[in-house]
Amino acid sequence: MDILKNLTVLIYFLERLVEESKHVIENVLFFNNKKLPCVIKLICADAPAKSFILNVKGYTGYSSCTKCWDEGEYYERRICFSDKAGKDRTDHDFFFKE
Ligand SMILES: [Zn+2]
Repeated sequence: MDILKNLTVLIYFLERLVEESKHVIENVLFFNNKKLPCVIKLICADAPAKSFILNVKGYTGYSSCTKCWDEGEYYERRICFSDKAGKDRTDHDFFFKE
């Protein structure tokens, strides 16, 4: 049930984020009587928030890198990734969780 509750919270949060983002983009911002067009170029989040938003494993899990296929190695109670990037994870791989 925790999964369903978390998923419900996640969907609610993301729907509000998308709704508010659309509003800001479609209805330019005003600052000092100047119209400021708004574009979202990135969303900055810490690792737990990123995994929550993307609905992926946390950074402490094997294969938790969202950019590549490096599985990582367990070392002293944590997962350590290689200093060499693994094979790139494509958008398709990520979307279909392959
Ligand atoms: Zn990686």
